[in-house]
Amino acid sequence: ASAFVPQQPLTPRSPATSLAAVGVERNPNFAKLIGGYLFPEIGRRRTQYLEENPEMKDRVISLGIGDTTQPIPEYILSGLVGGASKLGTKEGYSGYGNEAGMLDLREKIADKLYKGIIAAEEVFVSDGAKCDIMRLQQMFGAKVISAVQDPSYPVYVDTSVMMGQTGEIDSETNQYKNIVYMPCTSENGFFPDYASMPRADIVYLCSPNNPTGAAATKEQLVEMVKLCKERGSILVFDAAYAPFIRSKDVPKSIFEIEGARDVAIEVNSFSKYAGFTGVRLGWTVIPNNLKFADGTPVRNDFNRVMSTAFNGASNIVQAGGLACLDDDGLKEIDTLIDYYLGNAKILRETMESIGYDVYGGIDAPYVFVKLPESMGGSWDAFQTILEKTQVVTIPGAGFGPGGEGYLRLSAFAPRDSVIEACERLKKALV
Ligand code: PLP
Repeated sequence: ASAFVPQQPLTPRSPATSLAAVGVERNPNFAKLIGGYLFPEIGRRRTQYLEENPEMKDRVISLGIGDTTQPIPEYILSGLVGGASKLGTKEGYSGYGNEAGMLDLREKIADKLYKGIIAAEEVFVSDGAKCDIMRLQQMFGAKVISAVQDPSYPVYVDTSVMMGQTGEIDSETNQYKNIVYMPCTSENGFFPDYASMPRADIVYLCSPNNPTGAAATKEQLVEMVKLCKERGSILVFDAAYAPFIRSKDVPKSIFEIEGARDVAIEVNSFSKYAGFTGVRLGWTVIPNNLKFADGTPVRNDFNRVMSTAFNGASNIVQAGGLACLDDDGLKEIDTLIDYYLGNAKILRETMESIGYDVYGGIDAPYVFVKLPESMGGSWDAFQTILEKTQVVTIPGAGFGPGGEGYLRLSAFAPRDSVIEACERLKKALV
């Protein structure tokens, strides 16, 4: 027998119904979380539908979770392959690297994407924006008050809950106590009016936004930076969809705004730029100017988090990141994004032709559709559309109570699926 096969039979696993438990108290913050994380819940409902309707298996089209579907383009792929091949040579082999990323990559991000507004030492390379949001939360700790756009990417709220920043959820409002929910509606152009809200320590702002697809204008961002400065808040700017911005004069980074270096952190990622959702590569920018109330540079503490609890992004993947930022790689990224924006246009026009009010989908891969009251709540609409058309969408309410009454459609599907989904939606919803 191989050394890995135990010689003694293992203790049989306790049946799932067993009441046996260890003597460790559950972290009460986890008990506050309502339901599962949004995207697995969508998957669960899709699976349940297919279990009940197995004949529909081949008909399901996903316009749901914002996962990329197009293969990694050739030049960028060659960077990944080259990074892997180097590890097989004596000269090219590398082990643990700098926890904040290869200097080459940090320099290239600062140079190509921030045109020198940001220095390489202010860039922290990571395994993705979602992971960085949790690391920022670990750095901020349990005592801060967070403000979020409502609706928004659920990770800001859920990580705040996990960290113990919040109270319980209010069953009437569906809002956690101690989080500032900033309504983003069609009336305010889906941009929060922070001035009219209570002060928060940390303000999460995502532009182009998930799920509304709204890209903040320069004026809106100037005002937000000014407010954060006046109120002593840190602005965490999520720019994961920045390359989708094609409109002129719409900022792609918060650091295009004067004064942002004193108040803002930017999280970003190659996930949606280059189809790296599974590859995993992101970065966070923390300017040297940004300091906590006691004068400690925020950058120092984040560096401590990265060097203690992270061992650097994969060296193979960082080689892919370097390729992304070469001229050939940047061209491939543009082509990929053009493709998804083409899908977004088809989705937008279809939903408009059916007669819905439609937002987003111009500088973003998400189309946000206002549902008529006759469709019920957004989870009801999700279910009806799944049953009638086998198209998976995402209910707006999954992004916070402010998303109720809306449906998010993702443009990250293959083109033929988008066209087919649109034909079915037209037939079923007109
Ligand atoms: N930020 C936003 C707004 C997102 O929508 C997503 C993914 O959907 C992420 C971050 C996650 O990025 P990553 O794949 O780099 O973890």
